[in-house]
Amino acid sequence: MQSDSSLTQLIRAEMPAALVHFERMVGMNSFTGNREGVNQLARYTAECFAPLGFTAEYVPSTNPHFGEHLVLTRRGKTNRSIALISHLDTVFPPEEEVRNNFRWQPEGDLIYGPGTHDIKGGTIMMWLVLHALREHAPSVFEDITWKLLWNSSEEMLSHDFGDVCRARFDKNTLAALVFEAEGRLGLESLMVVARKGRATWRVSVSGRGSHAGAKHRHGANAIVQLGQTLQRIAAMTDYSRDLTFNVGTISGGTVLNRVPHEAIAEGEFRAFSPDAYAQAKAALLALAGPG
Ligand SMILES: [Zn+2]
Repeated sequence: MQSDSSLTQLIRAEMPAALVHFERMVGMNSFTGNREGVNQLARYTAECFAPLGFTAEYVPSTNPHFGEHLVLTRRGKTNRSIALISHLDTVFPPEEEVRNNFRWQPEGDLIYGPGTHDIKGGTIMMWLVLHALREHAPSVFEDITWKLLWNSSEEMLSHDFGDVCRARFDKNTLAALVFEAEGRLGLESLMVVARKGRATWRVSVSGRGSHAGAKHRHGANAIVQLGQTLQRIAAMTDYSRDLTFNVGTISGGTVLNRVPHEAIAEGEFRAFSPDAYAQAKAALLALAGPG
């Protein structure tokens, strides 16, 4: 192993070549719905990593409107495997990029442009890490079986990429490192080491509508019941277990002189541990039934 300063030197030496690839990638529109653009970027990405010894596999998305997922593999001397994860797509349609003159624009030590942050910059970081490892710790680089996986449609809801990953991971997979960038707190760079699981929920309350004057006592107020239910949901938040419930939206009722027959609220909850997640889900579902 060499010293850290030599590692910095290695990365600096690779930066000009990295920036050439980076600019080409940002110049290719890869909006999730731009199937051709996403596929073009996948092929270019495979070219960039080929000199490191990676071979490409293209996996069709289950959604015919989306491009192909990209899987690059470099067999090591051992079966011990590390996966690096990124995605190909961005959120900007071609027209939007043109309308806003949104393109590769270096300014000082920052670079603006579609995907520079999320996530083509992450892909370039993978490229730099592997180059630096190959020079700095060649035995580690050669021992590990590297698997690089790019989701073609991360910005839209598609579940098939998870299956693509699981089919290629085995018990020898030491880690799956995601190169999705995170922001900075002032000058402090942040690294994401985990993300919470998230579920969304909707509570619908059916009451009994009636006139708010003479027939008031015949009514069952759905909004009042929902208010009570939401208090119970909000109280399920438990910061000590990193479990949070958020009531996001609420609607109900029609006019002021009528006891409302319906009210609906929607929200989400998030948890780190599968246990906390499962208990939260069970507690939420247990609220169903007569008020
Ligand atoms: Zn992203």
